[in-house]
Amino acid sequence: MYKYEGYSDPIQRPRYTGVPTFLRAPYEEALDNVDIGLVGVPFDGGVTNRPGARHGPREIRNQSSLMRRMHQSSGISPHDLARVADVGDAWVQSPFHLESSLDEIAAFFTRLNEASVTPLSAGGDHSITLPILRAITKTGPVGMVHFDAHCDTGDDYLGSKFHHGAPFRRAVEEGLLDPERTIQIGIRGSVNEPDIWKFSHDSGMRVIYMEEFYELGVKRVIDEARRVVGIGPTYISFDVDGLDPVYAPGTGTPEVGGFSSMEAQFMIRGLKGLNLIGGDVVEVAPPFDPSGNTALVGATMMFEILCVLADAWDQRQREA
Ligand code: MN
Ligand code: MN
Repeated sequence: MYKYEGYSDPIQRPRYTGVPTFLRAPYEEALDNVDIGLVGVPFDGGVTNRPGARHGPREIRNQSSLMRRMHQSSGISPHDLARVADVGDAWVQSPFHLESSLDEIAAFFTRLNEASVTPLSAGGDHSITLPILRAITKTGPVGMVHFDAHCDTGDDYLGSKFHHGAPFRRAVEEGLLDPERTIQIGIRGSVNEPDIWKFSHDSGMRVIYMEEFYELGVKRVIDEARRVVGIGPTYISFDVDGLDPVYAPGTGTPEVGGFSSMEAQFMIRGLKGLNLIGGDVVEVAPPFDPSGNTALVGATMMFEILCVLADAWDQRQREA
């Protein structure tokens, strides 16, 4: 059928062709033949300021056409290690109702979890990570490597317990997240109260503000992340506003003075070998991203996470 043999593989076909799926993986709504599911969560009902992240998955899918099969630095070829598929969107039927929306998202991820599909998601605002954790932590709280300008451990805001600035306080309260196995990297920005991230500190999370990031450098931040999460199951949550807005301006809550996209890539690569059980890239807001670069950066971080996730998945199969 194909004149060029490699074209039977959708990832080898010309990248400007076809329907854009995440990282050019096959689209599979049935979960029987999927090990790692790439999921869009087009929901931004938890945004406290500038909305738009609901458009993230579609633009990340588009920009992710630029990704190829194999990781240049680690040599990992995720599509050869695991059956990776775009499993569609966890779209929400009643997006004007925040709490039921989170329940709907949790239900979608519970279906994946019951089919033993490891999720790698594209948001959506950061409120989506709470229902994902609700679905995938059935055997107890998990650790987390969290890249962000914000700790997202705030309390109620404008009368709501749930919003994109609070998912990790709720996750600890609900017993989904082990704060002592959680590290938050890239924290910065002006605040209205000096102890806005008190919950992170009091609960025992390791918080790396940008000042410390700059002092330590990437290698020692990686060492610290590995020490904090240890060998237990660990989730990666990547908020693109952790990046300096020079690299990722298209986001709802940009904060100047963040890490670079290269530093982020090196940090994610440094998580290879951990017991990784899922991840997400959130807060890409295409209305603020006219060049498309933030979506490209988001897609690239997804590929970086996919590589270490597929490697961890493969490792678990070997040990089983
Ligand atoms: Mn966040
Ligand atoms: Mn943030």
